[in-house]
Amino acid sequence: MFSTLFQATGFKRALDLFEAGRLEEGKALLKSLQEEFLAVCEENEALKRQLSEVAEVLDLAEKVQFDGQKYWLNDEDERRGPFCQVCYDRDGLLVHLHRRENHWECQSCHGLYMIPREAPATDRKKPRLRTNLKKTVPLFFERELG
Ligand SMILES: [Zn+2]
Repeated sequence: MFSTLFQATGFKRALDLFEAGRLEEGKALLKSLQEEFLAVCEENEALKRQLSEVAEVLDLAEKVQFDGQKYWLNDEDERRGPFCQVCYDRDGLLVHLHRRENHWECQSCHGLYMIPREAPATDRKKPRLRTNLKKTVPLFFERELG
């Protein structure tokens, strides 16, 4: 990598060459300085891109929600997903899970996620055994007074 210090001294050197009447040497030096300048510009652009990617990842991390199994993306008032937990944790990539009959499947790592056993709305009409019903457990108990 070329330091700005090197460039600064390079410009001084080019000036010295021109003042000394060594035009060809001065031109050659300017040409190489221009190449260095373009390389630095390219590097700067690459760094800017990297920086905005990092900012995007950080922004994304705030919107990503884990349900204990898969990831969901809360974007504005829209919830998108689910996404593969393995792919996101390993590569930082949100990979859509495809819904199969009894599970979600990741097309990338082929991970499988069981669909929770709660009956979907369309199944509710079918007769079910009452024994399947779980007793609800209250989350909070009222404290007895006195
Ligand atoms: Zn995956």
